Amino acid sequence: MHDGHNRQISYLRVSVTDRCNFRCVYCMPEQGVKLLRHTEILSYEELLRIIRVVSEHGVSKIRLTGGEPLVRRGIVGFIRNIANLNAVTDISLTTNGSLLAGMAAKLKEAGLNRVNISLDTIEPDKFRKITYGGNLAETINGIKVALAVGLTPIKLNVVLTNIITEHDLAYFVDLVHREPISIRFIEYMPIGESQACPGPGIEEIKDKINSFGKGILKPTLNIHGNGPAKYFYLPQAKGSFGFITPISEHFCGVCNRIRLTADGKFKPCLLSNQELDVKTALRQGASDIEIAELFYQTIADKPQGHTLANAGGQAKFFRQMSQIGG
Ligand code: SAM
Ligand code: SF4
Repeated sequence: MHDGHNRQISYLRVSVTDRCNFRCVYCMPEQGVKLLRHTEILSYEELLRIIRVVSEHGVSKIRLTGGEPLVRRGIVGFIRNIANLNAVTDISLTTNGSLLAGMAAKLKEAGLNRVNISLDTIEPDKFRKITYGGNLAETINGIKVALAVGLTPIKLNVVLTNIITEHDLAYFVDLVHREPISIRFIEYMPIGESQACPGPGIEEIKDKINSFGKGILKPTLNIHGNGPAKYFYLPQAKGSFGFITPISEHFCGVCNRIRLTADGKFKPCLLSNQELDVKTALRQGASDIEIAELFYQTIADKPQGHTLANAGGQAKFFRQMSQIGG
């Protein structure tokens, strides 16, 4: 299925909950957000029906996100049901990693293919501060167990804020030498009321990585499920680095995704307030064809590109990142 700008839409990112056990400074306001009531979020049956319908109309890749997807009870069984859909060939999940160690084996067995794990610093105090109480050791352990059970290829998401240090970068360089992990630096997006100080630019990070004496970054292609990141490798490293630049060099021209929020709205673009209400349709008895029509309408509504950089980062979004899923 192609949109009006000839982009093939094959990927649905599903936010299964707006709840989270962290409160990262770049994602939620300090005082937290008003949480959805249980009846406001889509049940697993409703989510599965939407996923089944869109999979019959060209979507083969599903990513589960949140909030923190692993805090929603029943997630393992839900993944097993998605894995049973014939047209879905790739199921991935984005997590803060805090609950992953205890769940990774069950998630893998249920049919989850791979995980992206958020890790902004490897300094325990800074980690606790940026996540508002997170325990670094749990996330590191989550990464280790995910590798061990084969939830691979693993990608680590690092949002570029001013907390990142040379010590963090040296650790990441060492990690990609040892493990087949992709470390992806993501430019901070000023969404909602979140507060974070943007960090170094991508070129600065590349220069720093090049300065550690482990070789010079070279561009590469063909990272499985590579999405919008541009990937680079260091000689002899098992892993790679990715750079995601929604602000300085947006990648809207290759965007292949639609989003579904936990409260049942299709979103054609992360950086847009536009939404289509699939939950109300579903609860009023919509047929599969009517759900598919909403999906097609969302694809038709996909803007050619977002305007955040043009707006000087001043665009107003009524949702927090934690309510959309990143
Ligand atoms: N809780 C999970 C996690 O943290 O990985 C999944 C949800 S989180 C909203 C998804 C991704 O969005 C994370 O990798 C997070 O770092 C990223 N993210 C959140 N707020 C962001 C922002 N303002 N700018 C850039 N990335 C952001
Ligand atoms: Fe929670 Fe993920 Fe947002 Fe951090 S980035 S507050 S872990 S949803």
